[in-house]
Amino acid sequence: MIYNELGKTGLIVSKLCFGGLTVGPLQADLSPVEGGKVIREAFERGVNFIDTAELYGTYPHIKEALNGFDRHRIVISSKSYAYSVETAETALEDALQSLKTDYIDLFMMHEQESEHTIRGHYEALEYYQKMKDKGYIKAIGLSTHHIAAVHGATKYAEIEVVHPILNKLGIGIQDGNIEEMLDALRRFRYDGRGVFAMKPLGGGHLIKSYDEAFDYVNNLDVVDAFAIGMQSVDEVIANVSKFETGSIPIDLKKKLKAKERKLIIADWCEGCGNCIERCGAGALSLGENGKAVVDNSKCILCGYCSKACPYFCIKVI
Ligand code: SF4
Ligand code: SF4
Repeated sequence: MIYNELGKTGLIVSKLCFGGLTVGPLQADLSPVEGGKVIREAFERGVNFIDTAELYGTYPHIKEALNGFDRHRIVISSKSYAYSVETAETALEDALQSLKTDYIDLFMMHEQESEHTIRGHYEALEYYQKMKDKGYIKAIGLSTHHIAAVHGATKYAEIEVVHPILNKLGIGIQDGNIEEMLDALRRFRYDGRGVFAMKPLGGGHLIKSYDEAFDYVNNLDVVDAFAIGMQSVDEVIANVSKFETGSIPIDLKKKLKAKERKLIIADWCEGCGNCIERCGAGALSLGENGKAVVDNSKCILCGYCSKACPYFCIKVI
């Protein structure tokens, strides 16, 4: 495993980060014990960096994985949509209590779109800074699918890390292409700030060209680390093997290729439109029958729409 400092935060992270969304209720829906085992396997194999979010519902899984493990060896990143002191305080308290920890290594503003949204969340950012001064947070960042948010982050000294969507085809970037995103990241990193990428496999779209997609992000000069979602021990072994040896054992590769992920919308959909509003990728619309339909070419399988559905119609399987 390779370990890098995340910008100048002092956080030393494995370059391969465990993307925590996939074990939780928005995707594989593993129990905390099952999900904890998958995460723990990654920890045992040298992955010391895990990314999650308030939204993902995976604090119990991470707590389980940490049970009997040295917490201080692990770097935990989480994020919240909090925009005010009150909402930020609730989000941080929830993370600290649910994970039974005294600090969160990296706390981020979730899904920022531009300088304007950062400004709109500034109260929360100021709160995180105060909590950082008190030692409850080690570093502050933001996550984004937007180039404009990376440019925005560059203007705020408090934002030490960005967590952008980044893959060889630029899948999921909402306001430009991969070259423009890389330019923005180079500017952001100019004074030594940190970047850890998300969705190097384009939310599953690049699974057929896994090796090229993995190598592309792994070789980028702007990336300190990158998060890959892993749902099973097999996926942990495969990703660690790819990272450490450059390849995956053939049998394991075949087994994983057979398991493609997809978004399912149940036929009891009421056509309320909540999911359509929630999807930042513009992948959902109402079909002729008044029920939600997904455009698979745009969907990055983040699962966020499933949380927005009051009728529990949507699942990523
Ligand atoms: S349709 Fe759902 S899973 Fe797909 S990109 Fe939109 S919010 Fe994410
Ligand atoms: S939120 Fe659920 S019920 Fe509403 S349109 Fe989407 S899938 Fe249908």
